[in-house]
Amino acid sequence: MKSMIDRFNCVEDCPIFADMFDFCKMYAGASLAAARKLCAGTTDIAINWSGGLHHAKKAEASGFCYVNDIVLAILELLRYHPRVLYIDIDIHHGDGVEFAFYHTDRVMTVSFHKYTGDFFPGTGKLDDNGTGLGKHFALNVPLKDGIDDDMYLTIFKTVIDDTVTAFRPTAIVLQCGADSLGCDRLGAFNLSIAAHGECVNFVRKFNVPLLVLGGGGYTIKNVSRCWTYETSVLVGAAIPDELPATIYDSFFRETKWKLHPPLTGRVENQNTASSLQRITVAVRNKLRYLQGAPSVQMQEIPPDLGAWLQDEERSRDEKDEEMGTGRAGEGREDRSVARNEFFDGDKDNDGAATEGEDSPPPSASASASARNRGAASAKRARGGRRGRGRGRGRPSTSAAAPESTNGDEESSSSDEPSPPRPRGRGRGRGRGRGRPRSAKTIAAAAEKEDKDDDKEDRDTEGTPAPDDASMDVDHESLDV
Ligand SMILES: [Zn+2]
Repeated sequence: MKSMIDRFNCVEDCPIFADMFDFCKMYAGASLAAARKLCAGTTDIAINWSGGLHHAKKAEASGFCYVNDIVLAILELLRYHPRVLYIDIDIHHGDGVEFAFYHTDRVMTVSFHKYTGDFFPGTGKLDDNGTGLGKHFALNVPLKDGIDDDMYLTIFKTVIDDTVTAFRPTAIVLQCGADSLGCDRLGAFNLSIAAHGECVNFVRKFNVPLLVLGGGGYTIKNVSRCWTYETSVLVGAAIPDELPATIYDSFFRETKWKLHPPLTGRVENQNTASSLQRITVAVRNKLRYLQGAPSVQMQEIPPDLGAWLQDEERSRDEKDEEMGTGRAGEGREDRSVARNEFFDGDKDNDGAATEGEDSPPPSASASASARNRGAASAKRARGGRRGRGRGRGRPSTSAAAPESTNGDEESSSSDEPSPPRPRGRGRGRGRGRGRPRSAKTIAAAAEKEDKDDDKEDRDTEGTPAPDDASMDVDHESLDV
């Protein structure tokens, strides 16, 4: 038994606990159900805040993550969607997802994270970009401590805009780890809730079927604020800065029950405009290899099936799910088989992607892709009630990163990701020092240490919080 526990890394920050399997089933099942609804077209945005456990590997728990619900959900999306873009704004590298799809061109992973070499999980350097068929289909944006709203939003929007343009995803999965917020107990960034939410809003406005997941976040009052705000962004609802009266009022008393308390306790920003520009230029150089490269998108969805998929009467199971009485897809294997018939598993990864890197993009690729996207858009038209368009127009971000004139950086790319960190070693900012605290423990600590500041930021549309802010801070040691 001991050897099994060690083998699957159920030690240190991934301890075995009562009902662990039920816990995993619930959060992973929710992500899978969300992916199924996106494939069925019965929703265009699905949210699972309990998901986003991006560190888990195929046979190894890691970093508080036991089952990688993101990988499972993306695999489900791949049954229907030719190309899935994964975006990770947790402060930690999304290593489990990157590794799972490191060899394929059907999933592009983009992770924005703190990278120092020894900060958990220790992977995610700029030049880890995928291998084999997946070469160039993994992007890493390594950042240093203290990045602020303006810098983060600039590089995020630039990189994601360029990536979406090059990769043309038919579905996007967004991991919204809230440990990238300022005042997080493990994180070291200075992001406001508004800026974090603006990243979500920016992705939403691509109007591509979107799966939104939670992730890390260790100052729990700010996590709940953040994901509440981001839910409002995703459903297109403006919500006031005043928190409603609930049984949790005592948690938020010292911050005057604000949704956007100002941020204090900033970490010194070690990023510079030039360091971020260097990253942006490097990412652009890598994306140049994508043009026309993914192979699967050239397969067109037959028109009759496209119409079939638009049909709200698709199946009784889908209707049951809508009514909340569903069986979460049991018995729908027939539909999965039908949807999957366009792709022949990994054997579909032939064609253009195996061509040389300098091959011009086949013109058929773009047109077929456009048709696919058109079908998807038509299908999503039902989602108009979400109130899209409330937000600002997409800002022009191209000026933030000048066009590259130098492709040399690509040559330094390595084919394999950095090796996983040895188990049980220390981590930056205490990530590996102890076990995850129970919600109860954290809540108790949070209540005790909730810092006060009556400054507020009433902007619910993505304006960064003012500099003199005061988000909740948890000072208590994480060692338990
Ligand atoms: Zn994290």
